This record gives sequence, C-alpha cells and structure tokens, in this order.
Amino acid sequence: MPRPEDSPWAISVTQIASHPGEHATIDTTLPAPSGIGDRIVGISQGADIHVEGSIDSIVDGLVLSARVSTRLQAQCTRCLTPIDRDWQADVTAFFPYQMQAEDKRANAAGHANRDEDIDIIAGEDESEDTYPLSPDGGTADMEALLRDTFAEHLPTQLLCRKDCRGLCPQCGVNLNEHPEHHHDAGDLRFAGLADLKARLEREQQS
Ligand SMILES: [Zn+2]
Ligand SMILES: [Zn+2]
Repeated sequence: MPRPEDSPWAISVTQIASHPGEHATIDTTLPAPSGIGDRIVGISQGADIHVEGSIDSIVDGLVLSARVSTRLQAQCTRCLTPIDRDWQADVTAFFPYQMQAEDKRANAAGHANRDEDIDIIAGEDESEDTYPLSPDGGTADMEALLRDTFAEHLPTQLLCRKDCRGLCPQCGVNLNEHPEHHHDAGDLRFAGLADLKARLEREQQS
C-alpha cells in the first residue's frame, strides 16, 4: 500500500489540520500528471507546476487558495505553429475533516431519518472543488485538484498571435511568413476548365 504522504502531489498539512485559525503559506512545485489536455493544447507530463498561495484551517476543514502556474504546449489553431506559453489559474478548494464531519453527522442524526442524512452527504461529495484529506488527516493530495483545474480552465484553442493570418487555403503556405503570397484569381478557377478543354481536344484528335 503506498502511503498518502509518498504521492508526488502530497502536501503535508499536519501543522494546521484540526487547528482552526491556523494558517500556512504554500509555495511548491509539483509534477504535471499524465494526460493533461490534448495534442492541440496540453501540458507535458512531469512539467513543473508551481502552486503558490495559502491554506487556512477552519472548523470543519482546510481551505486552499492558490495560483497554479505552468507552461503550456500548444499549436496555433490557424497556422499550426508550435506555441510554448506561460499559463496560470487561481483556484480555491476545500478539504473537509472527514472523521470529525462524520462524528457530527452521527450525533446530529440521532433519531433522524438515516436515508435523508445519506442523501445530504452524497450531495456534498459531488461538489467539484472539495477533495478528501488522507485518512489520518495529515496530507492533502493535489493530483485531483490539478486535473480538475486544467480540465476546467485550459483553453481549448490558442492563436500564436491575435492577428494570425493562418495558412493559404489553396496551398497551405504560412501567410504570416509570406504576407505577399496570393494566387492569381484565374489560376485555380480556370485550371479545371483548361484541363477539360485539353482533354476534349486530345479526344477529338484521336
Ligand atoms: Zn498562428
Ligand atoms: Zn497559396
């Protein structure tokens, strides 16, 4: 069994967990998980992901507020030029104290309807920005949070520059590199007809 604290995305919260009012700064570099994004816009596996912010201990859990920054590998959607660009997102996440919360619910439930209680718990667990602490409460694992952050905030397409001219739709030349490039209007429009005419003439001659 791998220990939670051995995960490459583990952050120790032992100092502040279950101490409401305590506060810790976080400034760490984590490896990018595999499979982030796609061929068009993605983050290379193992790339540095910088997480900088704070963790506050409140009564029923830990609140993380941080800026996540890294470098994106992408391809311009218009001209296909590779893009290597800084990227960042601000995240807020909640790590509830599972054990304490369950104790409280058990007390509160008392004679109350157990089914109803379970429904409420399920509803809370669906919240996107809530993540479990390790069973001993001493470790917050950031992998799921990072994955969700990228899934939610990564752009699906990028341009190499705002006014990218893209590729020539007729021959694929990069119009940023060849701004004067063009085809004479007659070239292509009549090319097909010229072929046909030549073929008809050949057939008539034979
Ligand atoms: Zn471009
Ligand atoms: Zn062209």
